[in-house]
Amino acid sequence: MEKRIYLSSPHMGGEELKYINEAFDTNWVAPLGPNVNSFEKSICEYTGIKAATALVSGTSAIHLALKCLGVEKGDIVFCSTLTFSATANPIIYQGAEPVFIDSEYKSWNMSPIALQKAFDDAKKNNKMPKAVIVVNLYGQCADYDKLKAICNKYNVAIIEDAAESLGATYKGVQSGTIGDIGIYSFNGNKIITTSGGGIMVSNNEEYTKKALFWATQSREDKRHYEHKELGFNYRMSNIVAGIGRGQIKVLDKRIKKKKEIYQAYKEAFKDIEDIKMMNICDFGETNYWLSVATINENSKIKPIDIMLALEKENIESRPVWKPMHIQPFFKEYKFFSSLEKESISENLFNRGICLPSDTKMDKEDIKKIIDIVTQMF
Ligand SMILES: *Cc1c(COP(=O)(O)O)cnc(C)c1O
Repeated sequence: MEKRIYLSSPHMGGEELKYINEAFDTNWVAPLGPNVNSFEKSICEYTGIKAATALVSGTSAIHLALKCLGVEKGDIVFCSTLTFSATANPIIYQGAEPVFIDSEYKSWNMSPIALQKAFDDAKKNNKMPKAVIVVNLYGQCADYDKLKAICNKYNVAIIEDAAESLGATYKGVQSGTIGDIGIYSFNGNKIITTSGGGIMVSNNEEYTKKALFWATQSREDKRHYEHKELGFNYRMSNIVAGIGRGQIKVLDKRIKKKKEIYQAYKEAFKDIEDIKMMNICDFGETNYWLSVATINENSKIKPIDIMLALEKENIESRPVWKPMHIQPFFKEYKFFSSLEKESISENLFNRGICLPSDTKMDKEDIKKIIDIVTQMF
């Protein structure tokens, strides 16, 4: 059996075990300890954010971010539709109602036009959103100058879902630090991983402190167990944080490799009219987490044909995220599209394919994928 080529799998740097061993040797095998503190500090140093609270997942980070902004039962939260369901699920955990916002073609992220439409509607109904969750898809930032201008006009805070975009920038500023609260994920498929984990970051320390309080069962500062608020068991463990300490050291190396992968595809497909790599906007640097392409609508070859051809060679690829507003679970909620006649997010879903972007691939692996795809056209 040939080795499998993955979309994006964990890629250890070498120092992770050292920190895990340290945790064992000092018996910090608990949901707190020096690795957690150090990992939070290194995320702050890397991104330039003031404060961070390490958690069990990106999903729990979004959940606590919503709580920080006071999202409760019956509230409305605007949310990018083209994303993984983990962006939207916490809105439901809080008993709030998501309103889904379409993409723009330029960045694939939240469309300022669709966002304005949603605000116009909210204003008309006299019910403004408590927060807007903006996703940085596949490693690339949304167009924050435009999105922020709209949100500022209505005084609504932004949660930046930077689960996929750690290390990317927008006009020189790190992704995740642009909104009022940011979150990163360290799930196994992300650009760096802790096997599973996440972090909530903000320049407002009141938010990260409150998140830490909720994440550790909302224990009041008393000798006995005193609780005035609902608690959660969301804190990252010291073992897991040890992996993170090793991984943050190789983040720049991973981004460099991801970029090489994207550029190899871009170069190889430049003369094939029916394949177009996802646009890279000049407002920032992406981390190239996944290399994603779209196939021309009229092409005889469909994304599924490419996925099947790759699968035959034991190579993993995936469709683009299926938009939330057409998911059975979320379809009852409102959706605002960018264009009159077409949903851009649905169009990208129908035509998109995530190509293998694993940083453990060598030149031959990438050539093999390119050969399979180019031969089809
Ligand atoms: C992975 C991901 C999440 C969730 O992170 P977990 O750590 O898996 O909970 C949230 N949003 C987006 C866009 C993601 O890709």
